[in-house]
Amino acid sequence: MKITDVQACVIGTQEEHSGGSVWTFVRVYTDEGIVGTGECNSGGPGYSGFATKAAITAMTPLLVGEDPFNIHLLYEKMRRGGRYGGSTNAPIIFAITGIENALYDIVGKALNVPVYKLLGGKFRSDIQLYADCHAGASNDPKAYGDKALEVIAEGFGAVKFDVDSTGTGKLDMHNWTVGAREMSHIIGLIEGIRGSIGYEIDLAIDCHGQFDLPSAITLAKAVEPLRLLWLEEPVPAENIDALAQVRRSSSTVICTGENQYTRFEFMELFARQAVDVIMPDLAKAGGIAEAKRIADLADVHYIPIAPHNVSSPLGMMAACHVMASIPNFLFLEFHARDIPWWNDLCEGDRPFVQNGKMTVSERPGIGIELNDEVARRLVWNGDTYFS
Ligand code: MG
Repeated sequence: MKITDVQACVIGTQEEHSGGSVWTFVRVYTDEGIVGTGECNSGGPGYSGFATKAAITAMTPLLVGEDPFNIHLLYEKMRRGGRYGGSTNAPIIFAITGIENALYDIVGKALNVPVYKLLGGKFRSDIQLYADCHAGASNDPKAYGDKALEVIAEGFGAVKFDVDSTGTGKLDMHNWTVGAREMSHIIGLIEGIRGSIGYEIDLAIDCHGQFDLPSAITLAKAVEPLRLLWLEEPVPAENIDALAQVRRSSSTVICTGENQYTRFEFMELFARQAVDVIMPDLAKAGGIAEAKRIADLADVHYIPIAPHNVSSPLGMMAACHVMASIPNFLFLEFHARDIPWWNDLCEGDRPFVQNGKMTVSERPGIGIELNDEVARRLVWNGDTYFS
């Protein structure tokens, strides 16, 4: 089998959603008529989608004429081969991620097996999800608690809230110090949510890397008795030693990873003992095989993986195949409760999310296809759909 073409398309809407709904998709075409689809670069503003698409287009000559079964060889051809051009960093690694996912889709289809069987089979069929509840509807701790209870009633195993921008007024818009008033408000919100949901269900808190070191340490220590599932990105992602200082300061579980890519960046997190739980975004971190390498590396450190996920059903199912195939899976994020057309965008076993779980597909390949009619209508900001 030979690759004949690679194309990319950016899909999303400019409607106000509480979360990223701009996705880059890749299609890899073959001389045997099998087409693989992969997703990458979910979320964020649309410009990163177009940067990813440009990188995919630039890599197409490396792939045409190659055998799509040589997934690892082609991955390293793109990643190592492009290392002087930033191929282990965004957005190039996003492009490589989408292409690699499409190659797995092709191989699964050609062998008539779901992708998880190419990864050694499954530990579990149902992938347990947590719901990202974003910020609460108001700054009232009771409103946060009510939102959590609504989500728990839908069957989700855990909830997550953002506390980095609670609207209480910062000391200064351009530094990341949390003053006494804002800090008390944040701690009160988290206590309020815990008060509403009790300890029967897990609670994660996301700081989006928007606190400075002393603020992060103050928060991590203050919430120790609330037994968080994790405190996410209490400081920005790029200084691992600062994160390690936060981790050493308290017993609060520290999580990071959605802005780290490939096994090499996760190796650094483990080596410097900076993290208790990792949350790579599997539409960005390098691909299906790279995600498994990252998960295995975490497992030798007895660290669980709870991937960040703001993808379409297709990218989310790709993540489910990996999470089915490893022992140390904790939770997968679900970020699309508020996107009304999220299910309609794709074909497969709908609804894709039920009772707080996504069941790993038994269809060949990733097991989910774009619905061309719906997707064509949602093409982002003047982009052209696959030909
Ligand atoms: Mg986050």
